[in-house]
Amino acid sequence: MELILILGPMKSGKSFEMISHFMPLSYTNIGFGIYQPKRNVRDENVWSRNGFNIAAEKIISIEEIVNEPLEVVGIDEIHMFEEKDAATIEDLLKKGIKVVASGLDMDYRGEMFPIVKKLFELSPQRVDYKRAVCELCKKPEAIYTQLYQNNIPILGGLPPVVPEDGTYEYKPVCRHCFKKS
Ligand SMILES: [Zn+2]
Repeated sequence: MELILILGPMKSGKSFEMISHFMPLSYTNIGFGIYQPKRNVRDENVWSRNGFNIAAEKIISIEEIVNEPLEVVGIDEIHMFEEKDAATIEDLLKKGIKVVASGLDMDYRGEMFPIVKKLFELSPQRVDYKRAVCELCKKPEAIYTQLYQNNIPILGGLPPVVPEDGTYEYKPVCRHCFKKS
């Protein structure tokens, strides 16, 4: 079945895009489920910053849902899942399940997350590349998510997935404003 990716930096409207995919399904008989990684500490059972919410279940591994009787699966914050979970997504596709996955494509160093690379190898039907407003120059061209501590960009030394526990500040930035190590 088809795989759709919704990718982009922080604050690029990815959750809103997910909701537009799934909201209409709640009026149909189509079996769907929306999942989030347990590692996501920002949200409770629902997501989106702009008032629209859909219930999402927290899972540790995509393996947990492989036997669910679903026709469409939504996976939020896909970059927080392990690389090996891409193989499970392939299993879902082979079973005829449609998968819509959204998340960051690149980590704070501007490197693509391993699971996202693996999903590209599954040849998605469509990739919605979202852009955010660059928090430095205010152009609507942000493609990276830069990590700041005390207004200084962090260029390395952290794992690719850094928890949003308030230690660091995340800023969407454009190609010109992004600092690489
Ligand atoms: Zn900029």
